[in-house]
Amino acid sequence: MEDYIPITKLNDFIFCPLSLYFRSCYNKFKENLFYQEKIIEGKMEHEKIHQDKLKNRWKLINFPVYSSYYKLFGKIDEYDEITQELIEYKNNINKVYDGYKMQLYAQARCLETMGYQVKKIKLKSIQTKEEIEIALPSRTEMKKFEKLIENIRYYDIFKYLKYQNKCQNKCRKCIYKELCNDD
Ligand code: SF4
Repeated sequence: MEDYIPITKLNDFIFCPLSLYFRSCYNKFKENLFYQEKIIEGKMEHEKIHQDKLKNRWKLINFPVYSSYYKLFGKIDEYDEITQELIEYKNNINKVYDGYKMQLYAQARCLETMGYQVKKIKLKSIQTKEEIEIALPSRTEMKKFEKLIENIRYYDIFKYLKYQNKCQNKCRKCIYKELCNDD
């Protein structure tokens, strides 16, 4: 795998390691041919938020971040320089998945490497406007985070083929289910 890891891969990998492989195949094609309608709507909502808030000079919006220590890169949705809050927008939040937390931890670490202090991290639901504060990572959470990065860095598709269409609930909702078939 490449040296630097996109932060979005953390969530994908936790959802299912195999989805990383399918995502890399899809990325070679136009995204609107393959992404489900819901996901496209969610992406457009994200764009709207970034657009609306661009006028606010106290906030970093859609801001590129990186960490040379963890070799991660990506973009944050919103960081308030006054309150030192980092916010990640999701179209709708039914549950706070581990992947969401890991993404926020990664973004916070990147911001800190770049000289910004992060005092609070939050998820915001675009549809319901609900705001969920996430505790800053404990030492144990940071170990999990570092282990996750290591697993992604040394990703080997053959190690994960056993997951293929076996995790019933996930697979039903998965956008790659048509291609992920061991028949
Ligand atoms: S269909 Fe199931 S096994 Fe295949 S990528 Fe999706 S979640 Fe993973």
